Amino acid sequence: MYRLRNALEKAQNNGYAVGHFNISDWIFLRAVSAAAQEVKVPVIVGASEGERAFLGLAQIAAMVRGMREEQGVSIFLNADHTHSLDSAIASAKAGFDSIVYDLSALPFEENVKQTRLAVEALKSINPEILVEGEIGDIGTGSEIHESAPDRSKNLTTAEEAKQYVKTTGVDILAPSVGNMHGMLQAMVQGSAKKRLDLGRIREIKRVSRCWLTLHGGSGTKDEDLRGAIAAGINIIHINTELRVAWRRGLEAAFSQKPQEIVPYKLLPIAEESIKQVVLARLQLFNQPVRQLLAQ
Ligand SMILES: [Zn+2]
Repeated sequence: MYRLRNALEKAQNNGYAVGHFNISDWIFLRAVSAAAQEVKVPVIVGASEGERAFLGLAQIAAMVRGMREEQGVSIFLNADHTHSLDSAIASAKAGFDSIVYDLSALPFEENVKQTRLAVEALKSINPEILVEGEIGDIGTGSEIHESAPDRSKNLTTAEEAKQYVKTTGVDILAPSVGNMHGMLQAMVQGSAKKRLDLGRIREIKRVSRCWLTLHGGSGTKDEDLRGAIAAGINIIHINTELRVAWRRGLEAAFSQKPQEIVPYKLLPIAEESIKQVVLARLQLFNQPVRQLLAQ
């Protein structure tokens, strides 16, 4: 069976990153799956605690399993930003491939202690499950924000990363490297872009030797995303860009067909709008870069 672990090993060895896209609705899942099939690459769909509460845990797991089996697409399911052990355990039992156990709001030592216990608990339910931990601050909410926090604060240090990975036993680390959740209005319009601290990523990778995830990838300069992959990022999360595309797609559908009431004649317009974003991101993430580590 082809697992997320295999997809990440392949990405690491070949110099590309696996795209992670959050889903809040059935059309998001359809759009992500269709784009992944078109580019012929593995993909991760994520559902945060809020998204899981809306969609239903067993329902998302069944939908993703159905797509995997019927369409033969390597689509993996991640429980994104999980803040309690109960919620993580429920996701592991429902068959998720990975869990982001996010205690980054706690003091470092407490985060380490509780994450280590969670890794043990989750692996005892499913030894194959991958657990991701987070240190540093990357903000909250894949929404459009009024202002950005000071991105030079609460960045992950290489020393913390090394200690965290070694002590907790996480498979994947989510560092704070200039990235942030959500987008500013100027980023939605395209007049501003997020920039990343590539040197920091490289240093974290060098000392942690761990798979790394970049959260809050929406609105980041393409060049920095490519640079981040070269520096050692293996998974890139995109959520806000999809939500913007969904809303624009729905608005276009209603204005193009003001009298239409049949959902399956309106929703494909929003689906296509989401799919175009996923396609562009997958194409960017899956062009191999020359990895510094491979030198
Ligand atoms: Zn995130």
